[in-house]
Amino acid sequence: MTSYDYDLVTIGGGSGGIATANRAAEHGAKVAVIEGSLLGGTCVNVGCVPKKISWYASQVADTLKKYAPHYGFDVTVPPLDYKRLKQNREAYIERARSSYTRTFRKNKVTVIEGYGFLVDDHTISINGQEITSEYIVLASGAKASIPDVAGKELLGDSDTFFAYDKLPKSVGIIGAGYIAVELADVLCALGTETHLYIRHEYPLRQFDEMIIETVYDNLLAQGVIVHQNVTLEKVYRDENQEKVAVFSDGTIGKHQDILVAIGRKANSKDLNLENVGVAIDKDGFILVDEFQTTAVKNIFAIGDVTGQKELTPVAIKAGRLLSERLFNHQENAKMDYNLIPTVIFANPAVGTVGLSEKEVRKLYNDDKIKVYTSTFRSMFTAVTSHPELIKMKLITVGEDERIVGLHAVGYGVDEMIQGYAVALKMGATKADFDATVAIHPTGSEEFVTMR
Ligand code: FAD
Ligand code: NDP
Repeated sequence: MTSYDYDLVTIGGGSGGIATANRAAEHGAKVAVIEGSLLGGTCVNVGCVPKKISWYASQVADTLKKYAPHYGFDVTVPPLDYKRLKQNREAYIERARSSYTRTFRKNKVTVIEGYGFLVDDHTISINGQEITSEYIVLASGAKASIPDVAGKELLGDSDTFFAYDKLPKSVGIIGAGYIAVELADVLCALGTETHLYIRHEYPLRQFDEMIIETVYDNLLAQGVIVHQNVTLEKVYRDENQEKVAVFSDGTIGKHQDILVAIGRKANSKDLNLENVGVAIDKDGFILVDEFQTTAVKNIFAIGDVTGQKELTPVAIKAGRLLSERLFNHQENAKMDYNLIPTVIFANPAVGTVGLSEKEVRKLYNDDKIKVYTSTFRSMFTAVTSHPELIKMKLITVGEDERIVGLHAVGYGVDEMIQGYAVALKMGATKADFDATVAIHPTGSEEFVTMR
């Protein structure tokens, strides 16, 4: 029998690689994680975590400026000390990274610093050295796509935002997805003049219509200047050192900085995949089967590098299930990509699980579908001069009204959706929701009292 240096090696020490490695080690496997940059990957260092702390800062800003006076607090709000916010955010991230190191030590997972690539189906090269492993997990993540236009080197991305020591006076954001919307709302709430450039009429077009329209209205209400139906043509720097974005319809945006958030591309180019037989799609995402197996049977891929659902809990779950299968006799363990709940940390937040109404109408006849909606003022903002709406939608199908889509936008929905996702995963019907006693007074009670 061939003996290898390790039972399992992950290329990438982000959310997915770390979770896979720890679960394998907990089942007794000899494991190494290869990480070329910072342990924790995108989510911890330049993604979910610094984003969420920045989002909290935007919520604090709104609370102080818009809401506190109406609750009887006449606070004078001094200018934001962004340096302090960044320092505290970095300190939090540093603690998260240390906790990864401690867990690896406890689980006896070896960390190898450097960028790895495949030499053959069991061999990886890092820093000129070769190691062998029975199983290899490709968990190298993704990075921002940059449009191929003249002056593209002037464009920043979400990493640029997290690196700011001082917030720019004016920022243009090009893109229409999660990151564009989240960064636009945060920057705007923290005092930057924020322009969002979208190539269609609305952002977040992949979501339910209610979300699309409400988020658009909310962006405007927050003060984000949205430029619709514009496609970037080129970028240059003018004589005042401002960055200038030129769009195909003649729109011109002059800003201190211009960021793009138009999706991500896989970190797969330098892994030497083709020579080993690992297949990729036309965008470089690694092709896997339902068990995360690549075209090579002992090599797996999880997380953003597969382009499946680019969310941290998905990378983590796919990795843990893979390790359960490889090292804990759970032969059928595999990730279920259905009914994945998600939150967009817009201002206010968006929460969603299941299908949009448009998707449901493509799958079922109209007479099988029932849609329940509710719109009301969030109590927190209703007593102020900035009342904000909460909008909710439930989509059911069939005689028994099984809930296949649940969507909400508004104050507090970010913390509402997880529990409802459990219910949908269990196959909850409208009758199950109706049979549940409401918690009063909350926003979430509306989901169990809709008629
Ligand atoms: P990553 O976390 O990207 O980890 C990959 C690691 O591999 C990196 O550390 C990289 O340095 C390393 N690597 C790459 N190539 C090599 C190599 N050859 N050798 C060694 N190491 C290598 N998701 C959510 O669920 N919630 C959120 O709120 C959220 N917010 C986000 C905000 C932003 C701005 C961004 C960009 C993403 C956000 N995401 C969020 C998505 C989330 O960050 C990713 O889905 C998640 O990090 C994917 O994990 P991963 O392990 O696949 O990849
Ligand atoms: P998204 O996939 O969310 O959105 C990108 C959007 O940009 C597209 O849907 C498209 O919208 C638009 N776009 C694409 N190409 C171009 C182009 N050439 N010019 C202008 N616009 C373009 O990507 P993000 O980069 O925002 O985020 C990447 C992923 O990271 C997300 O999909 C999500 O999985 C994850 N993420 C999760 C977060 C969370 O959980 N809260 C937060 C941040 C990221 P259209 O077709 O309408 O133009």
